[in-house]
Amino acid sequence: LISPVTIEAVKERMDIEEVVSDYVSLKKKGKDFWACCPFHDEKTPSFSVAPVKGIYKCFGCGKAGDSITFIMEHEKFSYTEAIRHLAGKYGIEIAEDEQATEEQQQEKNERESLFIILKFAKEHYHENLKTNDEGRSVGLTYLKERGYNDATINKFELGYAVDQWEHFSSHALKNQFNKEILENAGLIIKKDDGGFYDRFRGRVMFPIHDISGRIVAFGGRTLRKDKKTPKYINSPETVVYHKSKVLYGMYQAKQAIRDQENCYLVEGYTDVISLHLSGVENVVSSSGTSLTEDQIKLISRFTKNITVLFDGDTAGIKASLRGIDMILASGLNVRVVLFPDGEDPDSYSQKMGTEAFAQFLKDNVKDFIHFKTSLYAEEAKADPVKRAESAREIIRSIAIIPDNVQRAIYLKEASDLLKLEESVLVAEMNKILIQERRKKKVKSEDQPAGDTDIKDFAKKPQLTNHTSIISLQERENLSLLINFGHVKFEDGTFLYEYVKQEQDELEFMNQDYKEIYDLYFKAVENGMVPQGNYFLQHGDEKIKQVIADLISERYEISQEWENKYQILVPKKEENLDIHAFTNIYRLKLRIIHKLLDENKEKLKNPKDDDEETQLLNIHVALKRSEMEIAKHLGIVVARG
Ligand SMILES: [Zn+2]
Repeated sequence: LISPVTIEAVKERMDIEEVVSDYVSLKKKGKDFWACCPFHDEKTPSFSVAPVKGIYKCFGCGKAGDSITFIMEHEKFSYTEAIRHLAGKYGIEIAEDEQATEEQQQEKNERESLFIILKFAKEHYHENLKTNDEGRSVGLTYLKERGYNDATINKFELGYAVDQWEHFSSHALKNQFNKEILENAGLIIKKDDGGFYDRFRGRVMFPIHDISGRIVAFGGRTLRKDKKTPKYINSPETVVYHKSKVLYGMYQAKQAIRDQENCYLVEGYTDVISLHLSGVENVVSSSGTSLTEDQIKLISRFTKNITVLFDGDTAGIKASLRGIDMILASGLNVRVVLFPDGEDPDSYSQKMGTEAFAQFLKDNVKDFIHFKTSLYAEEAKADPVKRAESAREIIRSIAIIPDNVQRAIYLKEASDLLKLEESVLVAEMNKILIQERRKKKVKSEDQPAGDTDIKDFAKKPQLTNHTSIISLQERENLSLLINFGHVKFEDGTFLYEYVKQEQDELEFMNQDYKEIYDLYFKAVENGMVPQGNYFLQHGDEKIKQVIADLISERYEISQEWENKYQILVPKKEENLDIHAFTNIYRLKLRIIHKLLDENKEKLKNPKDDDEETQLLNIHVALKRSEMEIAKHLGIVVARG
């Protein structure tokens, strides 16, 4: 636990220009600095650093934030790791929080001693491949037969555990480690009579690294042929090893994953190593366990794209489909490569040779919709019932995707592929979404029925581009609030009061914006009118990027926006009240249009007369609001 005093000291000292300069060379232009962006490929600089504001912003890829965010993003560090890094850079002494209890201190000591013994064990096993007779004749021979060269063996720090009961533990005890540590690290197993023996014997050893390269566990593969011994055994869960949070190969892969903007996901240790041998380094394995949310989160620190490699047997595939849905639910993109029947990445790369194998991966990647479709295609060919079922399976996956726009794109694709009308798919998906919502819904009785309906519609998936336009408009309002909310008008009211009055009637669709908005008015309640920098200090890391983006200058895009979306972007602190009103009313109008379109879609296909009446009433109410708002804006409404 780093003490808040240290964090404060770091924040005071950190200088965005100095921090970024460690990674890219900056050129001064005006009061800002510019460089080619370290986060995306480009030839002309669109990455800017504003020392006065303490932020960076890329106009190409949109990455933005402060010094801490930059280090987190660039080094793939956690918040704490970034603070430590910056403290190191500026020579600030790190005070650990004195609040740490004796228990916490003890746990910290235990963790550290486990890292030490695990590293010691790794070195021992690795050394066996070179100096131990059995290690050379059995272990090393096996690895060489598989085509592993020295570079690969060293990169993954592979090793061999000699086939004796106490070969490793007696070596460890001789080196002053005690039994308790060996046991807590999962390296020995205690017997009932108080004795103990080595957990790993006669096995090729695969050390499992955490993200910063420390050993947290081992996987061991037996070389015996008898069937009684399990092929693989793994370290048990320990203070430093939670298998649901670790991915094998992540340490060796993280740079390549970032460079390639994609992460291959395979099943076993040897699959990972085979891909490396084929020159594919952006690969990790969930090593035997089924994929977990924590593992997906870990990948998402490096890329939003996952390609799952499936062994070629159908039973296994259908069992693994849950993994795909989990990835989709996390908002990541999933693609799939399916191997021929009976082959896995390891066996197939050996059979094909490295170059042909790398090419195979490129040629056979499918997005998950094509994959699911082809999976059900055989069964569905002759049977219309099966066909409907498979369509529903695919729609179910699409419904899981959190992003509206992404969903709409996939629906379009599925409609082409399944040769079904898009509207049919939309209806099916809405059915699924409503079922899901019913399952979750905790009844809120204080809302009148009609109101609930309209709000529900607002959350429906979109096939038009309303959603993105609304999001842009919300962004404008928020930008207005953050940059100009403190401006006082002649009558003594603040601009933020106007914004609040209007915005409170609307519900934000973008949750980050909502969070910032709420934070803003919480500060107002506490008697201060916040400005942009306030959020860089008080917001969490997730919204910092949004804030930095909102307070950056952006003359380039504002003009385009005005033309394209008729969103007014104030350039000076004049006529702000008009801007505030106009933006809010335009936002309202867009939401109404969106609701109208959705309602019309529903009206094409009402369930029964009751629903039809209800939908028509909604239509009338929406038209009335539309007129009202249009009057304020001076717009003539001529829509049907
Ligand atoms: Zn960029």
